[in-house]
Amino acid sequence: MNSYDVVLIGGGIAGLMSAYKLCNIGLSVALVENKPVFAAGPSTRNEGWLHKGTYHATSIKNRQEAVQVAKRCIYGHEYIREFAPEALEDIDKRPLALLKDESRVDEVISRWNEAGVSFTPLTLSKARSLVPEADFTETKAIFAVDDVSLNTRLLYRKLINAAQKAGCVFYLGHEITAIEGQTLHLVSLSGDKAAIAGQRIVYSSGTGARDLFTRHHDHDIPIRYWKSHLIITPRLCAEGVFYLDPHQAAMMHHGDHSIVGFNEDALLSPCADYEVIHERAENIKRGIASIFPGWDSRNSVNIACVKVDLQTSLNCNRSLNVAIAEPVPGHILALPGKMTEAPFLTDKLVAYLHDAIDNASVAMRPCDEFRVLEKIA
Ligand SMILES: Cc1cc2nc3c(=O)[nH]c(=O)nc-3n(C[C@H](O)[C@H](O)[C@H](O)COP(=O)(O)OP(=O)(O)OC[C@H]3O[C@@H](n4cnc5c(N)ncnc54)[C@H](O)[C@@H]3O)c2cc1C
Repeated sequence: MNSYDVVLIGGGIAGLMSAYKLCNIGLSVALVENKPVFAAGPSTRNEGWLHKGTYHATSIKNRQEAVQVAKRCIYGHEYIREFAPEALEDIDKRPLALLKDESRVDEVISRWNEAGVSFTPLTLSKARSLVPEADFTETKAIFAVDDVSLNTRLLYRKLINAAQKAGCVFYLGHEITAIEGQTLHLVSLSGDKAAIAGQRIVYSSGTGARDLFTRHHDHDIPIRYWKSHLIITPRLCAEGVFYLDPHQAAMMHHGDHSIVGFNEDALLSPCADYEVIHERAENIKRGIASIFPGWDSRNSVNIACVKVDLQTSLNCNRSLNVAIAEPVPGHILALPGKMTEAPFLTDKLVAYLHDAIDNASVAMRPCDEFRVLEKIA
C-alpha cells in the first residue's frame, strides 16, 4: 500500500492548488479525483471571473465581512496573476462596474478604499465610447476596475503540471469505495483496485464532501448547496460590464463568448444538481436586455452551477468565506468561498498541515516551544 503525508480528495481549484503548495513544502501528496477529468464541477462551470474585490466589497451586507472577502479576493487575484499570467484574458481592457442606486455611491467608494480595491470613476461619455452597444440610461455611476477574465482550464493545466513535477501522485478516475481509519480503498474506472493511506485526508471535494462524510464516517457535516445560473452567449462587447446592484446582470468575456450571471441569484437547494430553473435563467435574460436592448436571446445557452458553504449557525447568511474544519480527527474539510479565494484557503491549509505533520529538521521558534509547553501543561 502506498502511504502519503496528505491525501487530497477532489481535483477542483482547491485540491489542485493544495497539491501544488503541499508538495512544495516537501510533503508527499496524492490526489484522488473520481471523474475521468480534473475540475469537472463548479471550478470550470463558473463565470471565470478573477475577482479583485470590486463586487464582494459591496454585495455582502455586513461591511466587515465584505471588506475581509474583498481583501482575500485581491490576494487571490494577485497570486493567480503571478502564477499563471498566460491564463488571464483581456488584460489590455478594464471592465466597467456600474451602479444604479445613487444613494450607495459613497458607501461603495468607502468600502473599496478600506479593502484596497482599485477603481477609476468614468464619465458617461467615456463609458459610451468604450461600450457603444450598452444602454446606460439608468446607470448613475460608472467605474473602470481591475477584475479580469480567467481561462480556468489553462490555470488548472499549469497547476496539475507543477504539482506533478513537485511529486504529487494523481489517482484520476478513482472512486473511493471505503475509508478505514486513514486508509482509502479505491477502484479505477477500469476496475483496478488500490489502497492508499494518508497521515491526513483532506476533502477538497466541494459538492461531494457532504456525501463522503455521511457515507464513510456516518457524520453529517452542515454543508449547504446554493444554485445559481449563467448564460453563455456570443460576445456582447469589448469590455466586461457588471452591475453592483442586486438583481442586475454581471458579465465577463472569454474569447468570442460572454458569460453572464445575475446578482443575488443564489437559491438554497436540497442537493447539488445542475438542472436549470427556467425563471431564474429568464431573470438573467432580462438583465442582459436592459444593458443591451438589441441582444438576441435565442442564440444563448443556460447553465446552472452550485456553490457550497458551511453553515456555522442556524439561519446564517450564505457564506463566501473560506472554511477549514476537522469534523473527524485526521479528516479535514477545505472549502474556498470563491475560486478567487483558493490561494488564501490553500495558504491556510498548508499552515494547518505544517503544524499537524511536523518537519523536525527545522528548529522550533521560541513561540513554537512555548506552545508545546502550554499543551503539556
Ligand atoms: C454560478 C456560479 C458562478 C461562479 N463564478 C465564479 C467566478 O466567476 N469566480 C470565482 O472566483 N468563483 C466563482 N464561483 C465559485 C467557484 O466556482 C467555487 O467556489 C469553486 O470552484 C469551488 O472549488 P472547489 O475546488 O472547492 O470545488 P469543485 O470545483 O466542486 O471541485 C471538487 C472536485 O472534487 C471532485 N469530487 C467530488 N466528490 C468526490 C469523490 N467522492 N471522490 C473524488 N473526487 C470527488 C469533483 O469531481 C471535483 O473535481 C461561482 C459559483 C457559482 C455557483
